[in-house]
Amino acid sequence: MIIAIDGPAGSGKSTVARLVAKKLNFDYFDTGAMYRCFTWFVIQQKQDPDNEEALIPLLEKFSMNVTEEAGKKKYYVNDTDVTDVIRTHEVTSLVSIVSAKQNVRSALVKIQRISAEGKNMVCEGRDMATVVFPKADLKIYLTANPSIRATRRFHELSEKHPERSKISHETILADIKKRDHLDSKRAISPLKKAKDAIYLDTTNLSIDEVVEAILQKFRKKCRSQMHFFYRLIISLDHLFLNFFYRQKVYGLNNLKPGGGLLCSNHVSFYDPMVVSSACYEEIHFLARESLFKNKFFKKLIEKLNTHPISAENNLQTFKTILSLIKENKKVLIFPEGTRSPTEEIAKLLPGIAVIATMSKCMIIPVYVHGTYDVWSRKRKLPKLFGKIACVFGSPIYFDDFAHLDKKAKSQAILTRIELSLKNLKNWCEEGFRKDPP
Ligand code: C5P
Repeated sequence: MIIAIDGPAGSGKSTVARLVAKKLNFDYFDTGAMYRCFTWFVIQQKQDPDNEEALIPLLEKFSMNVTEEAGKKKYYVNDTDVTDVIRTHEVTSLVSIVSAKQNVRSALVKIQRISAEGKNMVCEGRDMATVVFPKADLKIYLTANPSIRATRRFHELSEKHPERSKISHETILADIKKRDHLDSKRAISPLKKAKDAIYLDTTNLSIDEVVEAILQKFRKKCRSQMHFFYRLIISLDHLFLNFFYRQKVYGLNNLKPGGGLLCSNHVSFYDPMVVSSACYEEIHFLARESLFKNKFFKKLIEKLNTHPISAENNLQTFKTILSLIKENKKVLIFPEGTRSPTEEIAKLLPGIAVIATMSKCMIIPVYVHGTYDVWSRKRKLPKLFGKIACVFGSPIYFDDFAHLDKKAKSQAILTRIELSLKNLKNWCEEGFRKDPP
């Protein structure tokens, strides 16, 4: 999936794009840094930035590399670390001239597309939604009034590069206005809002508010990509659970998109409904083979992403789950095996650790609160009113256990899931305060 964020200098693109990427577990691509790297190279090679003919041979000699050190991106041009120097006034004042050249854009856009191929990525720049990724899954156009943008840049420079804080607010404002003009009036790929992009004015918004707004748009977009029948049923679920049980959802930021396991406690027939209606992506379910005997029912549950599993054939069950994860799907699993007769988290089945080890996938613990009260095993029929909540816990990543040997790994994964479910349960019982663990 691609999230394309465009906007003028100082609109908060970089900060916001980085945070959105982190929250979603996506890669982050700052394409402005790429144009800056090439501009630095032009200066270093002592070429005229406005002479396109002179820039063509430089494009062939130019190679850049991006690494991540202690959570910060480092930029290298032909092995030289240029991370700081590309943000200097010298580079900033020339980058819009260099980036307006057709040959420069063609070469760099090609690299941008290759870098994003098959990846989940948040890409920010000036022409992400209009030119580079016209089919992006979500398009955002960020802006803010120029004076606020200059103030933001001024504070950023004073904080990160106090030696450069001699540059006045007026100089930065003039620079921003000049770049706005050059970037939006140029003939090739000018900065403009794509027709289908969402316009977000950040003048009066905090960074967290902008990030949250984008995450909400993203979830809405994902929901709109669900197939019709699934979406219809989930919407009805949602209405039903809201009306009768005032269903609440917590920890949505823990629900990272993409393939993985959702490991939920299980005390009620309502649990699959509760988890699926809380998710913004389609999820996949497993059910006993016997449920697929009736032709009509089989069609129905298959349309709702339910896959048959046999109690006798574990291998086949593993295969089904692994192939779904490989296709980047999320599979809902109840690691206690069956509906627990009490509200306590029962001992987890070891199979879950086998799947996690084989697929190396992300595991998201989910705690369903309140379904025991409204429809536990002890009740034939559900209570008509009550309170239900679905809580997503922090994802568990396989890499955290990669250093352990096979046996220790399985045990550690099981223990972590169990502990996480217990912590989520306590968090609910203590009154849903702050963010879930
Ligand atoms: O985002 P940032 O301010 O670092 O971008 C530097 C410059 O790079 C912009 O002013 C613009 O001229 C150019 N740019 C571009 N297309 C992009 C990203 C940046 O032309 N996709």
